[in-house]
Amino acid sequence: MEGPYHIGIDDTDSLTYGCTTYVAANIIEELIKEANFIDYPNLIRLNPNIPWKSRGNGAICLRFYSKKNEYELMDLVLKYVEEYRDKLDIKNQPGIVILKGDVPNIIKEFGKKALNDVITLDETISLLKKINTIYYGIKEGRGLIGALAAIGNTLEEDHTFELIVYRKNYNRKREVDIESVIKFDRETFPFTFNNIDYESGRLLITPHGTDPVLFGVRGEDPEILKISLKIIKFKDADKWVIYRTNQGTDAHFFEFKKIKSLKPYQVAIIKGIVSKKPVFIEGGHVIFSIADDSGEIDVACYEPSGNLRMIVMELMPGDKVIVYGGVRPLNNKITINLEKLEILELINEQYINPICPKCKKSMKSEGKNKGYECKKCKIKVKEKMKITIERKIKEGIYLPPPRSMRHLTKPPQRYGMEKRKWNGIVEEFFGKF
Ligand SMILES: [Zn+2]
Repeated sequence: MEGPYHIGIDDTDSLTYGCTTYVAANIIEELIKEANFIDYPNLIRLNPNIPWKSRGNGAICLRFYSKKNEYELMDLVLKYVEEYRDKLDIKNQPGIVILKGDVPNIIKEFGKKALNDVITLDETISLLKKINTIYYGIKEGRGLIGALAAIGNTLEEDHTFELIVYRKNYNRKREVDIESVIKFDRETFPFTFNNIDYESGRLLITPHGTDPVLFGVRGEDPEILKISLKIIKFKDADKWVIYRTNQGTDAHFFEFKKIKSLKPYQVAIIKGIVSKKPVFIEGGHVIFSIADDSGEIDVACYEPSGNLRMIVMELMPGDKVIVYGGVRPLNNKITINLEKLEILELINEQYINPICPKCKKSMKSEGKNKGYECKKCKIKVKEKMKITIERKIKEGIYLPPPRSMRHLTKPPQRYGMEKRKWNGIVEEFFGKF
């Protein structure tokens, strides 16, 4: 046996057809006869703000020992990539990287950067040439970025698992019984997550397109996910694969930044003070501003964020918060698209113009440091008046509903359940129906 091999694959799917994990599932089906896997197949979600990403920005890494050499493996992978990729989609630019040996630190750092920043293809190719890899890119090969990043994300700390069931017939309507999914959700809570969005009643385990995925369930360990195969009622299944993944771990949120340093499409974590009152704008979105010692920026909480908008609307200038999100260019400036809000400190008193003791109306300022006067009653007061404000919200962490969470977003029930390391035990992760 030779190895260990690390094969990264990305961008074999498009927005309308195909699925990188399905390419992986077929490769696994062939490899599993002879290869010795040292990890579950890895499904790595990368920076979700990259606009040219494929759906969900997910890449795959397979790690194993094999009797095959790198070139035989490349032929095998390429055969399936060519078979299943969307050849009609010009945006689709698959990339395959094969690394033999241990993953060097420089690739791990590259993988980390791909979670919260923008990486160029030039940067990727110059790194690929420096290390001992063979690689293949179709068209410009933009998928090489994700393929190498997947190899670098070795999931040594927090991770979750996803069991994906693939179907035989892509064009048929999916038959997955919602009652049985509710039962699965109830029986496995809190060890599985995002099965159903109870706020809208939407099933979250099934995709909606014509792709080969029948459903996918996410959770803490492979055993709990296998329960889905017994409880959930479905038809037309072909095979299943369990992936080890960074989904639901907040892996992209690891670096605080200053407002002034933010660049489009980066992941942002900003600690600051609310500087402009939140307002509803057309489309049901909420916009407010925050400031830190380097500048000020708009934060947008979009309509799909559901009830999170109502929390945001209760913020007041002066509140201390941490906003987590993605940097989006909008009307010649940048805005943070809110993914998670942490309220650190709410103000509960405010200084307002004093009220006239006689007529009870707000007094007018006489100019800076000149005090206040009621013109009608001719009463003068020096200082602003301190009032106490009742707040309807509390300090804490607030998230959008499951239906609008990113794949990487850590759901509420996982707080406190984070894993410090992986036990390295690989059990059965592939099966046929
Ligand atoms: Zn008065």
